[in-house]
Amino acid sequence: MMCGKTCLDSMAGSGRGARVTCWILPEIRALAIEQWGQRIRVSHEGWLRLHCWGVSWSKFLVWNQEEHCLNSACGVALLGSTGSIGTNCLDVIRQLGGRLRVTGLAAWQSRERLLAQVSEFQPGWAVLGNRQVVLPEAGLGVQSGSVSWYAGFEVLDELIRRPETGTVVCAMVGAAGLPAAWAAVDSGKRVALANKESLVVAGSLLMQRAGETGALVIPVDSEHSAIFQCLQSGRRSEVRRVVLTASGGPFRGWSREQMRAVTPEMALRHPTWSMGPKITIDSATMMNKALEIIEARWLFGLTREQLAVCVHPQSLVHSLVEYEDGSVIAQISPPDMRLPIQYALTYPDRISGPTKRTDWSTAQTLQLLPPDFEAFPALRLGFEVAEKGGTCGAVLNAANEVAVERFLQGKLDFLSITQLVEDILFSHNYDPGPTLPQLAAVDSWAREEARRWKS
Ligand code: MG
Repeated sequence: MMCGKTCLDSMAGSGRGARVTCWILPEIRALAIEQWGQRIRVSHEGWLRLHCWGVSWSKFLVWNQEEHCLNSACGVALLGSTGSIGTNCLDVIRQLGGRLRVTGLAAWQSRERLLAQVSEFQPGWAVLGNRQVVLPEAGLGVQSGSVSWYAGFEVLDELIRRPETGTVVCAMVGAAGLPAAWAAVDSGKRVALANKESLVVAGSLLMQRAGETGALVIPVDSEHSAIFQCLQSGRRSEVRRVVLTASGGPFRGWSREQMRAVTPEMALRHPTWSMGPKITIDSATMMNKALEIIEARWLFGLTREQLAVCVHPQSLVHSLVEYEDGSVIAQISPPDMRLPIQYALTYPDRISGPTKRTDWSTAQTLQLLPPDFEAFPALRLGFEVAEKGGTCGAVLNAANEVAVERFLQGKLDFLSITQLVEDILFSHNYDPGPTLPQLAAVDSWAREEARRWKS
């Protein structure tokens, strides 16, 4: 499972002669060498990365997955463990019973919850990001039983790279998750990416780095997991369009006039998904879909013309991929984040887990409706930013994070969230090819502007 990884360039190669890059567990190394002899080069410690030449990749993959890896325990570092994705992730790991093991847990400030998780999962290390939260155990590398405690997210870079971790789950909220996502990609590990903001801000750089390090980035966002699954049905060159579904949020069908009086309490009531407050507000403005359009653009290397959105209130179809021949492949399951989380952890295996199942004994209606760009102008921004790239994603994301914060504090009205983002986006100094430090500077600038913005 964890181990079954081939690079996209290898997948594109056909039969013998293609290069296979594959993660395997140390204990399988000898078996791999025995099987494939001199054609294997080990280039990593702990979890081993093998480069194989002159081996049929399909044969290697089958050997790797079916013969030797299915029962291996795989190390998972979970960043953002006390949030909605984090707790669901631990539920998946708990219910997969020993198939995965937790090597590290990191949370921003939910001290009690983190303590309970550490006591249950016994990771090698635990990090509380916010130094203001007093935690007697959280000194630098303070040992408590088998767990080393750390304070401050600066140590994450080093911890992510430790060899016992094969998979990094990036479930931190907002652009603050970018340094950790970068470290995970840079270390060439399997990256279960739930932090969409890191792709929105620096998708171009992240995916380029993943190509260089061999990191396998698997989306956890339900729509992107669906697309990732639907993409198994054909070749990339055969994809005509990717259609992201949107529930439409609590204000689907409302006019802008009706939305004028929306309060945080109203916006926090999502009809189908139970999520954290930031993403729930983003769903209400449909800025979440804008972020997801940009996320998909980088994750799957799509053009503006290959991206579309349709509204699907039942949240059963999580997204669709249309192929050149006109076939549309959909991924359908009840709204339950544990499925995309589990798939990111066990890909390419599909195994029985805790996820709710589709009830085929009752009648179900699936509606697929065109989106209302007038009522939800955030959607248009998503397409524009996906097309322009460069610094646009960082500005849109930073401005939106501050706008949502101001709205939740009662300092900004609902419709002004998107207006603020649009104003700052169009007033910024566009750079088509920023570096990471330049993106960080643009992020700070946009936040400052967003705090000052008045309607
Ligand atoms: Mg989503």
